[in-house]
Parts: sequence; C-alpha cells; structure tokens
Amino acid sequence: MGRENFRYFLRIGAQITFLAVFASLIWSGLTQFWLVIFGAGVIGSVVFDRFYCGWVCPMGTLARPIGWIYEKFGIERLQTPELLRKGRWRWIGLVALALTMVYLRIAGNQLPVFLIVALIGVGFFLVWEEETFHKYICPYGVILSVTSRPSKFGMSVDKSKCTGCGACQEGCPNNAIATLDSDAREIESEGCLTCFRCEDACSVGAIEYRNTGDIE
Ligand code: SF4
Ligand code: SF4
Repeated sequence: MGRENFRYFLRIGAQITFLAVFASLIWSGLTQFWLVIFGAGVIGSVVFDRFYCGWVCPMGTLARPIGWIYEKFGIERLQTPELLRKGRWRWIGLVALALTMVYLRIAGNQLPVFLIVALIGVGFFLVWEEETFHKYICPYGVILSVTSRPSKFGMSVDKSKCTGCGACQEGCPNNAIATLDSDAREIESEGCLTCFRCEDACSVGAIEYRNTGDIE
C-alpha cells in the first residue's frame, strides 16, 4: 500500500471512529465530554494545524458523504450569501455558544449543544456550498483558525513543482487555495482544514503536509 493510500485509509478510519465516539456520547447523554476531544484539537492545532477539522470533527465527516452525493447527482449547492461573507457571524456564533454553555451549566440543563451545532452544520451543508459553514459560521472553526496561526506544520505547495492546473482548488472544501500571479497555487493557512483533499488531487505531488518553513 502506497503512502497516500495508507494516509487516506488512516484519515477515513479516524473520521469514522470519532463520528462513532460522538454518536455514542449523544446516545449516553454525555456530549459535554466532547469538549475534552475538542480541547485536545485546539492544543494540537498550535503545532500541527487544524487536524481537528479534517480528521475529527463530526460535521466535517458528515460533510463528505453529503458532498459526494451532490456531486454524483450533479446537484449544485447555493453559494455563500454576501451577507454572511461581510459579517462577523462566526464570532457572534462563538459568543452565543459560549454564553449558552455557561447558562446551561449554571442552570444544570443537559441540552446537547454539540449535537445542535452539528445538526445546524448538516443543514448548511445540505443547502449551501461547504465553505459557507466552515468559513463563515462554525464557532469551533473560528477558535481553531486563531490557535493554529503559530503552527509550523501544515499543508503547503512546492511552487517549483506546481503546474498551475488548479485541480487542488476544485476539491478544497474551504476555498483556501489562492492563485498567484505566476499561476502557481498557494494555501492560505488560516482557512486550511488539513483535510488532505488537495494533496490527493495534485497529480504532480506538489502539495504535502510538512514543516512550512522548509518550502518558503
Ligand atoms: S493540483 Fe498541484 S500542480 Fe495543480 S495547481 Fe494545485 S498544486 Fe499546482
Ligand atoms: S487547502 Fe487542502 S488540506 Fe486545506 S482545506 Fe483545502 S483541500 Fe483541505
């Protein structure tokens, strides 16, 4: 088995495992324990980038089959509304989520907040392009986009290999790949979910998860 195949199955295995953990926590009424997993993802993002988004997050996992079905049947999803692009909605969402969790904690209410956010995410994935929720709504994504800033590791393009074909951009769920004047592509690290789809799409092996300082 090649390195790409091994990594692909590892990621799929991780996503299915974490989805099963999430489902079992919901089933047993213990979704607040997901905070521990999310907390580990936040700490890990400081060094290793947003593995939580690409390998752990139940919403990211559910977005994949939804996207696959839509693609299979040629169904176009709506583009991100301009109103969402301009606003600070994910910061508002984050504050609202934090206040709700504090209130529920004080009131002793067991409302499954993580499940509710996950269902909202799935609702968005069903109607709008994937980027809409990841980039403009997800309150967890806003935390990770900040904590992952100092990360030395991440996805990056070796511009000396890039042919400018654009295949990586087509599959990126968060529209996180820019086109440079030279036509080479560049990954905008703040938006990158570390999902490896671009690496899978690049036929010349220009994209890799690496110490980004090695390639500048
Ligand atoms: S798929 Fe590879 S070669 Fe094509 S634009 Fe992206 S990085 Fe460059
Ligand atoms: S840049 Fe690559 S790894 Fe990052 S979100 Fe886009 S497809 Fe995934």
